[in-house]
Amino acid sequence: MFISEFLHTFLDLFYPRTCLHCDRSLNDSYELYICEDCKKQIRHVRDHACVRCGASLGPHVKSEEKEGCLFCKGKYLPFNTLTSLTYYDGVIKTLIHKFKYSRQKFLLSVLNDMVTTNEKIKEIIPCVDVIVPVPLHWLKKLRRGFNQSELLSIGIQKHFLKPISKNNLCRIKHTESQTHLTKSQRRLNIRNAFFVKDPKLFKGKKILLVDDVLTTGVTASECSKKLKKAGAESVHLLILAIADYHSYW
Ligand SMILES: [Zn+2]
Ligand SMILES: [Zn+2]
Repeated sequence: MFISEFLHTFLDLFYPRTCLHCDRSLNDSYELYICEDCKKQIRHVRDHACVRCGASLGPHVKSEEKEGCLFCKGKYLPFNTLTSLTYYDGVIKTLIHKFKYSRQKFLLSVLNDMVTTNEKIKEIIPCVDVIVPVPLHWLKKLRRGFNQSELLSIGIQKHFLKPISKNNLCRIKHTESQTHLTKSQRRLNIRNAFFVKDPKLFKGKKILLVDDVLTTGVTASECSKKLKKAGAESVHLLILAIADYHSYW
């Protein structure tokens, strides 16, 4: 037995590694952070979602990008497509929460893997020119120590070798947690929260706008508006986890 293996086994006697979601002891040889059972529980958004608005659709409903589904057809949306990779509940909610609020930054590698190996992202990447993370206000970023959407965007940039723009879309208004607000209050609250410093950098560009979670869609919507106003040709939203819903818009 190698010394490092011995040390590992020795440490596990005192600090057994457990699943971050269900607390079951992990199998050292193939389980990292979460157990296989929990991993299987992650609900991936497969094909039954509207390409235009991201709404969950039944297995027999189809939607074309331009037309949209029964929820978004005819409605104005500030972005062109919405792609979400997983549903925001259970295991993925635990992982994102621990990553964002408990500073368990090592979880970034798990989340990054989930994003870059996803089949849906492989389809979108060739259609975009630049990756833009949804920005945090500098004060929030300072408190948290990082912007989770920016870290996910960097993962995409490195994996697919696409340009990234981290500082041109910025958040100029600091808002405290919006969870207690109604949707119309959130909309009002977020108005003029974002700003594009140099619009010509986005002019004529196809933008991949990246966020970790979409709960009401108000933030992503507002950012998309600013990008379009700056002259972006199209905005494609990429969301790691979306709250289960039929339509936000
Ligand atoms: Zn587990
Ligand atoms: Zn739709």
